[in-house]
Amino acid sequence: MNAQQFREFGTAVIDLLADYVENIRDRDVLPSVEPGYLLNELPENAPEQPEDWKDVLKDFNQAILPGITHWQSPRFHAFYPTGTSYASIIGSMLCDGLSVVGFSWMASPACTELEVVTMNWLGKLLGLPEEFLNSSSGPGGGVIQGSASEATLVGLLVAKDKTVRKLIRNDSTIDEDIIKPKLVAYTSDQCNSSVEKAGLLGSMKMRLLKADADGRLRGETLKRAFEEDREQGLIPCYVVANLGTTGTCAFDPLYELGPVCKEADVWLHVDAAYAGAAFICPEYRHLMKGVEHADSFDINPHKWMNVCFDCSAMWVKNGYDLIRAFDVQRIYLDDVQTDIKIPDYRHWQIPLGRRFRAMKLWTVMRIYGAEGLRNQIRKHIDLAQYFAKLMRADDRFLVEPEPSMGLVCFRLKGGDTITKKLLENLTKKRKIFMVAGTYRDRYMIRFVVCYRLTRKEDIDYSWKQIRDEADCVCTDKIH
Ligand code: PLP
Repeated sequence: MNAQQFREFGTAVIDLLADYVENIRDRDVLPSVEPGYLLNELPENAPEQPEDWKDVLKDFNQAILPGITHWQSPRFHAFYPTGTSYASIIGSMLCDGLSVVGFSWMASPACTELEVVTMNWLGKLLGLPEEFLNSSSGPGGGVIQGSASEATLVGLLVAKDKTVRKLIRNDSTIDEDIIKPKLVAYTSDQCNSSVEKAGLLGSMKMRLLKADADGRLRGETLKRAFEEDREQGLIPCYVVANLGTTGTCAFDPLYELGPVCKEADVWLHVDAAYAGAAFICPEYRHLMKGVEHADSFDINPHKWMNVCFDCSAMWVKNGYDLIRAFDVQRIYLDDVQTDIKIPDYRHWQIPLGRRFRAMKLWTVMRIYGAEGLRNQIRKHIDLAQYFAKLMRADDRFLVEPEPSMGLVCFRLKGGDTITKKLLENLTKKRKIFMVAGTYRDRYMIRFVVCYRLTRKEDIDYSWKQIRDEADCVCTDKIH
């Protein structure tokens, strides 16, 4: 492919994507294909000879698109949003177009420094304490990880390293192999699956402590768990607090968990993957009260801030903790000496290589402005409230807990079986897509406002699908 063909292919793809966005409402949100459909359709071997881009694009339209679940459809209400925008797509193109790997400052100075700048911008917009910012006088700063899962794992590995060093400093006769199996991590039973997985990957027992009836991990529960474990000779090491759980978008009280962690000298990581973006709106910052106690804090701009996957923004109070845990030297990496203010980001993450992810965060923040991003978050929350209002006017449904952010959980009063049936039928029809959750041991359906340009009419459409299907399942039950 030469430059001219690249221009033609690129222009055709941009047109295709613009049409895709403009006409997204015409498509069913879920594809109507069976497992294995694409495996059967595509050749078993890679082409031996170069092919024409027009043929590639034709196959994209004929074979790939029919197998797409349309995450960017206004009828997509599952999981949590995954962000995109024209601004971010352009940022991704620039990133891929330059294809630099910014593991050190020298490897591409702009890649490192734009990350420092955008992470300071975003940290300030969120109202994070100064200590988390590279622009403060201390050793704090931000780094863009690929996912919230990675951020949680990075926090765990750093906490482990820090605890082992501290214990050996206090008693040089202890062997680290004796300490490591005794370390324990804690979170709530409402945590995202990725938090539990971080324990598996980092070889640390992860206790899922019982959340209260509102899905929040309380300080007393954590304190008791620390005490129980200490009595058994175990060593509390790492806590993951959840701001916006995946199930019901509940917020752990950091102001309770923080002091318990401080007192025990245990690393506190905050997983605010979805809901954290809302802190750019000052009226929601009360939900992170106590954040000053955290050691690390993470949100996903790739969820609710119009940035394409992957872009997970993590801040730490002390970058040296990461460097001590992850610094491995080689002569080929021995370039210009920088300091904590201009990080060699390879020490702040798991892989060596890293993409220029700050580029898309930068294009999004520039093209939307803080006000544009705030407006969208407020609009989504208002639309979720609107949906809840429609649903509450129908006495067959129960909305609980109180809607939080862009999430509304509901069930049919008829019980779990009929609620499950409702979700199954709606999924089969492919017009709207939601997934299940639980609240106080009851089966719930989660409805999330995901699409960035969702309008009131879109909510009306989805509500109509749900209401009409409820007519069917409720009648079925009677007969
Ligand atoms: N934490 C929470 C609360 C989430 O809701 C999710 C995903 O929805 C994650 C973590 C995982 O995010 P990622 O896919 O970026 O690892």
